[in-house]
Amino acid sequence: MISEAYRKRIKKGIYWQLPLTLVEGCTAKSPACKNCWLSNEYSRFFKDKDFSSIMLRSDRLEVPLKKKSQCVFAVWSDLFHEKVPDWYIIDALKMMIENDRHAYYVLTKRPERISKLDLLFAEKSNNIYLGTTAENQEMADLRIPELLKSKMQFKMLSVEPMLGPVSIEKYAKSLKLVICGSESGAGYRETKIEWVRALRDECVAHNVMFFLKQLRVGKFLIKAPILDGRQWLQLPGLLMM
Ligand code: SF4
Repeated sequence: MISEAYRKRIKKGIYWQLPLTLVEGCTAKSPACKNCWLSNEYSRFFKDKDFSSIMLRSDRLEVPLKKKSQCVFAVWSDLFHEKVPDWYIIDALKMMIENDRHAYYVLTKRPERISKLDLLFAEKSNNIYLGTTAENQEMADLRIPELLKSKMQFKMLSVEPMLGPVSIEKYAKSLKLVICGSESGAGYRETKIEWVRALRDECVAHNVMFFLKQLRVGKFLIKAPILDGRQWLQLPGLLMM
């Protein structure tokens, strides 16, 4: 059951409690990256830094340790970027497992790296919500099979920005959550409502949680929109803190 406090928070566009930037910078991987929100924020705040230069922020591995209360951390950028060494990814996953009073929401467009590195942690990984992003069917068919090789317990798909129809029919039994949303910001591309409906219908049919984050209606970007008479805000309880 979604709390009123969480509902109010997502109306302001705050979906996850705290960001955790373990890697600074990233480079484009597929069409979804064209209007990368993080890259735009980076240029806004750090005019002298180059977003394409990858920097490991090992000092941030201590941030969750210092938090006394239980938190949900959204791990920003792409921890599995080609330039991030294996040992650093292992350190980051180890830190998450050891600090298991918190939940970690980790998304990557490079899931092919995960299964080689997560074996050590997979059994204890019930506080890591691991997902890949697919903006269209081509990326879904490329990335979901790679994600599913991982032994991590909770696997999800983010279809944001949704740039084409995406069917999860072939993968539904292994996915627990699908997040969906239109593109935000300048130069946004269209998300057709029929693509969203079809994906939602597949999730409902296969008992996969469906979280409709935002939807563009004309010029307006509606957070947590109503689709067919209700909001679609299905999430594991821990992620709603
Ligand atoms: S993978 Fe993510 S963070 Fe990296 S450029 Fe693409 S959208 Fe930006």
